Amino acid sequence: MAHIPDTDIPAPAITIPAGLLPADGRFGSGPSKVRPEALAALAKTTLMGTSHRQAPVKRLVARARAGLSDLFDLPEGYEVVLGNGGTTTFWDVATFCLIERRSQHPVFGAFSSKFAAAAAAPHLAQPEVIEAPPGSRSEATGRPGIDLYALTHNETSTGVMADIRRPDGADPGALVAVDATSGAAGLAVEPSNFDVYYFAPQKCFASDGGLWLALMSPAAVERAESLWSGGRWVPASLDLSVALANSRRDQTNNTPAIATLVLLVDQLDWMLGKGGLPFATARSQRSARILYQWAESRSYTRPFVEKPDQRSDVVGTVEVDESVPVATVSAVLRANGIVDTDAYRGVGRNQLRVGMFPAVDPDDVEALTGCIDHVVAALS
Ligand SMILES: *Cc1c(COP(=O)(O)O)cnc(C)c1O
Repeated sequence: MAHIPDTDIPAPAITIPAGLLPADGRFGSGPSKVRPEALAALAKTTLMGTSHRQAPVKRLVARARAGLSDLFDLPEGYEVVLGNGGTTTFWDVATFCLIERRSQHPVFGAFSSKFAAAAAAPHLAQPEVIEAPPGSRSEATGRPGIDLYALTHNETSTGVMADIRRPDGADPGALVAVDATSGAAGLAVEPSNFDVYYFAPQKCFASDGGLWLALMSPAAVERAESLWSGGRWVPASLDLSVALANSRRDQTNNTPAIATLVLLVDQLDWMLGKGGLPFATARSQRSARILYQWAESRSYTRPFVEKPDQRSDVVGTVEVDESVPVATVSAVLRANGIVDTDAYRGVGRNQLRVGMFPAVDPDDVEALTGCIDHVVAALS
């Protein structure tokens, strides 16, 4: 049977009173809300349509790299590397340029599972997968012979967040690589606990897709360079040494989307101007508190993630009673300008999923809960 996207569900004519509506109705978990001020800045930039090999765009890349270094308070020797293709491409980069022989993957949702699948490559040993059911979490376990631990800061498909630390008992020199695509800038992290912290800018960085960014420790840089000089064949577009050489010159190997860089830098300036990572993480935390307290206080909802300390501050999942047709609720919300509250395709629950990245105003999350209550009451 053909899969019918939620957007095709006809919405009953329910008008949410204007006084209940959020100021901004974008609650997507990726891509997600772009601040209107950033879009206005984009409309005014003189960089669009100009060469990425010239100084003005190089300065923009330099600002992105320095801004990330500042935001995460990177220790001496850590480097900010970037390239085209988003996080999915970076999984292939890591498979070619960071995993020496065998990786370990705690898998607890769609995204952690995708990297594990990508790392099952013919030039490597079969990856070790430690699986946990959706809505819970599995942990990395130090094991001889594992040279890269693939952690996920926030599993965007299920709304489970993790603490980032190095597993006990890992081999000396084993790398910790963290998929922080939805967690970076929304969740706290200590750089000494990772070797690679990689992401794409269409979530907490409120930009557009298509780019990958990686914060790399000296050990990670050394791994990439030693695999390369050791003679491993690597496709040029996935070659981390090529990306490193370009990044050091504030360049990318091939043409980047300049708009993505402009929006990223605007969001970095906004976060840094407001107080940096503590500001950004506190804002997401405030939204999360509002959402989960609401979900616990209603008879027809509950937080999907059982353990409170695993409930994500940046992507909230709310399980809705079977008596409430959640796809219809989402369709009514959409018809009223509140978009992208649908569960991750494939999670298959009667569920709402709410992006609570730093760009989202906690007051709008509060308003969203009021709108959901209104729609559910009108449907019953
Ligand atoms: C969104 C997301 C991805 C995919 O990012 P792309 O840039 O679309 O490839 C990967 N991992 C996580 C945790 C994500 O949230």
